[in-house]
Amino acid sequence: MKLKGTRSTFYLFAAMVISSLVIGSYCKTQFVPVPAADATSTAESKLKYAPVDVEMKLKKVGEHSWYVQGKAGIATDNAGFISNAGVIITNEGVVIFDALGTPSLAHTLVQKIKEITDKPIVKVVVSHYHADHIYGLQVFKELGAEIIAPEGVYEYIDSDAASSRLEERQFSLEPWVNENTKIIVPDRILDKAEKFTVGDVSFSIEVIGSAHSDGDLTLLVDNDRVLYTGDIIFEGRIPFLGSNQTKHWLKTLQNMESLKIQALVPGHGPTAERPLESITFTREYLAFLRNNMGDAIEEMIDFDDIYKQIDWSDYKKLPAFEEANRRNAFQVYLSMEAEGS
Ligand SMILES: [Zn+2]
Repeated sequence: MKLKGTRSTFYLFAAMVISSLVIGSYCKTQFVPVPAADATSTAESKLKYAPVDVEMKLKKVGEHSWYVQGKAGIATDNAGFISNAGVIITNEGVVIFDALGTPSLAHTLVQKIKEITDKPIVKVVVSHYHADHIYGLQVFKELGAEIIAPEGVYEYIDSDAASSRLEERQFSLEPWVNENTKIIVPDRILDKAEKFTVGDVSFSIEVIGSAHSDGDLTLLVDNDRVLYTGDIIFEGRIPFLGSNQTKHWLKTLQNMESLKIQALVPGHGPTAERPLESITFTREYLAFLRNNMGDAIEEMIDFDDIYKQIDWSDYKKLPAFEEANRRNAFQVYLSMEAEGS
């Protein structure tokens, strides 16, 4: 009896253990949310190059020169497609100007390029490091292209603003900007003008210094007289002066006016209808600020007073006047004070 009783207790105990294991595993499948198979497919759905549903068309602006035009809007509109990218096709390789605002957009651009040439993408020239122009860089880097950028970009790359902006875009432009998106550092930094040739096409890079950002450059396709300017030329609106070396910016614009260009592709929006006028407009605006702020500093008038005294009527009617003008004027005031000291 004793033995039997012990045996039945054992069977009862064993039954309890087994049933608790069954119930336990049942509970696990019910309440543990991500089984292994699902985790893999979630990661895969966040692929580096999630497809984008935006219209992207290569437009020809010179014999070798093309561009795609981002749509008007804020940075997170149109799947982030708000900035332009240039594409120059030579008989030996393709040169890209600016890398668009997400890896997905850059990947789409690569597919578009493949429709018209089988040449490899060999270089990417970056006008400046701002999120809407650089998040596509990793796509070109993976294809083996050399990334060239102006001096000053490390001010951005090393800044807290750059990492918090990426975090914000991983949220606001998800899934096109995601945890696989990274800021690619350039292979080469230029601190002065440089010429180079790829196949049958020659190029001139002009380094502007700190203008719209901490470092800006432009690219001229010599053969086609097509100028890619990034964000330093604005047509029909008040420019945004992101930094303070307006003296050098002004000089560069003066040189640009003599380039005899056929087409000007800005960083945003359509090609300038009258390239020379766009350059002249930006130059005159900068000159106007510098003349007025220079006089004020000489006469020791403080900024608030001079800002009120200036007749802004030529600019007041233009878009972005309210948002940008006072800030621009103040930047110039400060930078000219520093130039004089
Ligand atoms: Zn931009």
